[in-house]
Amino acid sequence: MGIYPPPLERLIRHLSKLPGIGQKSATRVALYILKKPRGLAEDLSRSLMDVKEKIRFCSLCFNFTDQDPCAICRDETRNNGVICIVEGPGDQLAIEESGIFKGRYHVLHGILSPLDGIGPEDLKVAELLTRLEKEQVQEVIMAVNPTAEGEATVSFLAKLLSDKGIVLSRIALGIPMGGDLKYMDAMTLRHALKSRTSLQP
Ligand SMILES: [Zn+2]
Repeated sequence: MGIYPPPLERLIRHLSKLPGIGQKSATRVALYILKKPRGLAEDLSRSLMDVKEKIRFCSLCFNFTDQDPCAICRDETRNNGVICIVEGPGDQLAIEESGIFKGRYHVLHGILSPLDGIGPEDLKVAELLTRLEKEQVQEVIMAVNPTAEGEATVSFLAKLLSDKGIVLSRIALGIPMGGDLKYMDAMTLRHALKSRTSLQP
């Protein structure tokens, strides 16, 4: 039995199941909601139900959307010839926010992880192959995170797509902006040297 009335205890328990929210933060959020006018709780509960009812995957790129196909897949000004592969919707959003990339995306919804029993059939790989057959794609950019599983996923996809007549590339790995060489690990330095770019005009 908790120290708060059962409905409040229940809210704290539900909130503490969310990622990155421990018991203390959950209690703080629950007390805040309780203290604020009823409108906040109503808006919150409506938003929660809205995302569950209205948001789904785009049937082309598998990004989250409330309209299928999503706004990016519908945008006729974007380059159809380039597809950027990302692990999850958060990665897609980060690249999109940079404003640099103007092609299409394909969200894998995970990466290969044999130890966790995640194979190609658990990712949107078959759907990628279907797209490449239907669409006129000249280049596939792999923007997968540089972890051991990410590297394995890139190798797997590179092999799978090697005979499709498509230029395959991956985003460069190396020193982040504002970084300091003295504090970089050997693996990062190795990749940074390997991914060096020419300064010739
Ligand atoms: Zn889409």
